[in-house]
Amino acid sequence: MKTSEIRQKFLSFFESKGHQIVPSSPLVPANDPTLLFTNAGMVQFKDVFTGKETRPYKRATTSQRCVRAGGKHNDLENVGYTARHHTFFEMLGNFSFGDYFKQDAIRYAWELLTAVYKLPAEKLWVTVYQEDDEAYDIWAKEIGVPPERIVRIGDNKGARYASDNFWQMADTGPCGPCSEIFYDHGPEIWGGPPGSPEEDGDRYIEIWNLVFMQFERDAAGNMPRLPKPCVDTGMGLERIAAVLQHMHSNYEIDLFQALIKAAARETGTADLQNNSLKVIADHIRACSFLVVDGVIPSNEGRGYVLRRIVRRALRHGYKLGQTQPFFHKLVGDLVQQMGQAYPELAAKQERVEQVLRQEEERFSETLENGMRILDAALADVPAQGTLDGHTLFTLYDTYGFPVDLTADICREREVEVDLEGFDQAMTRQRDQARAAGKFKAAEGLSYHGAQTRFDGYEHLAGQGKVTALYVEGSEVDSVQAG
Ligand code: ATP
Ligand code: MG
Ligand code: MG
Ligand code: MG
Repeated sequence: MKTSEIRQKFLSFFESKGHQIVPSSPLVPANDPTLLFTNAGMVQFKDVFTGKETRPYKRATTSQRCVRAGGKHNDLENVGYTARHHTFFEMLGNFSFGDYFKQDAIRYAWELLTAVYKLPAEKLWVTVYQEDDEAYDIWAKEIGVPPERIVRIGDNKGARYASDNFWQMADTGPCGPCSEIFYDHGPEIWGGPPGSPEEDGDRYIEIWNLVFMQFERDAAGNMPRLPKPCVDTGMGLERIAAVLQHMHSNYEIDLFQALIKAAARETGTADLQNNSLKVIADHIRACSFLVVDGVIPSNEGRGYVLRRIVRRALRHGYKLGQTQPFFHKLVGDLVQQMGQAYPELAAKQERVEQVLRQEEERFSETLENGMRILDAALADVPAQGTLDGHTLFTLYDTYGFPVDLTADICREREVEVDLEGFDQAMTRQRDQARAAGKFKAAEGLSYHGAQTRFDGYEHLAGQGKVTALYVEGSEVDSVQAG
């Protein structure tokens, strides 16, 4: 089943259960300035869940385009390393606004997976929240999942990927337990079942998260039950496509294979298994859709996230030996794959190509020289050693290497980066710039409630004017998470 059919089957199934098919909203959320990007299907319905807004329907279904590359959900560092993470992906979802609740949500999910998509039941595992006996009983008694494949999970805050089966919209507001469905890709792949110490592996892959909005937390921490509980679910289209196409990795599905071949064509790469091709295939989707939704590369906020993703893609092209602009040439291939489902992408193809080509040309001026400097510096760093903050800063400041880009290259070579030294070099530079009167006011942007500071400054380097920016918090977090 092709990815496009899988998407359509999902929407039609829920339409047959009385759901309104609602188009995907843009990646830049219209109703939430605190959120960097739309990162889940529920984002466009936030106000409906809280009751601030009403719609003419109580059940909805969507295939929502999402980006998780910054902010609270950041999977940028996972791309190229796991079989299941993208920066851009589509989240299939069904939603109940005070209509059906746990029982129907679970029944629908099971019916779709086993009767429509015809997955073997014995490969499916489910998790429920520790205290959610109601969901446990529905799975065990009504659906008949054997107890050995139902796992109770608490609020597992510490671990990196670990399941955390309690969902909340924010510090206050709707919240409730989740129940997740996992697919067992088989013993040849490393990993353990959900809740086990090996769950970070890629054997048992989470495909669907069912969220039961059951309580409303107030500022004092009280959690009364909502009079009309809601349902919000999300299933990664690429993950379910991998399962249905009998592939382990998302990158092996039809849609990604087409993009990987296009990336191979444009970089002159013979080996289709090359990891850099996957990264480029991932990044062309994120970058194209971000431009479609109005983001342009810049040194601040959303535009800086886009710039970082483009530059990462270009660096991978460079690694494959492509020093000429190539990235924008993949937009046509993407339109072929996704233009039908997303007419806005097809309509803006030229604009996307133009924006990306411009960004490519800009970075190609410094990429090669920057790589030379980095290679020279790394020649002196032993494996498991650390790249000094001064080099990190020079690359960032003069050659336009975002710090996470350099960290990504270092990670490939098993070298750490000295972020503290980088910060010190940045502070020194800023003080000098301030003294010289060239300091530009810092920009502020907050998302997910946490204040993230963007320090912008510019100065002259070489012939061209280099504008640099360092994103505090999200950058450092994402680098360290690796
Ligand atoms: P994981 O634990 O694998 O990182 P998650 O728990 O962060 O996933 P949710 O926030 O529950 O994911 O999102 C709902 C669904 O969206 C997931 O079950 C998965 O199928 C899909 N999904 C989440 N993140 C990604 C991603 N980066 N790329 C592709 N699909 C994703
Ligand atoms: Mg995740
Ligand atoms: Mg998870
Ligand atoms: Mg999840």
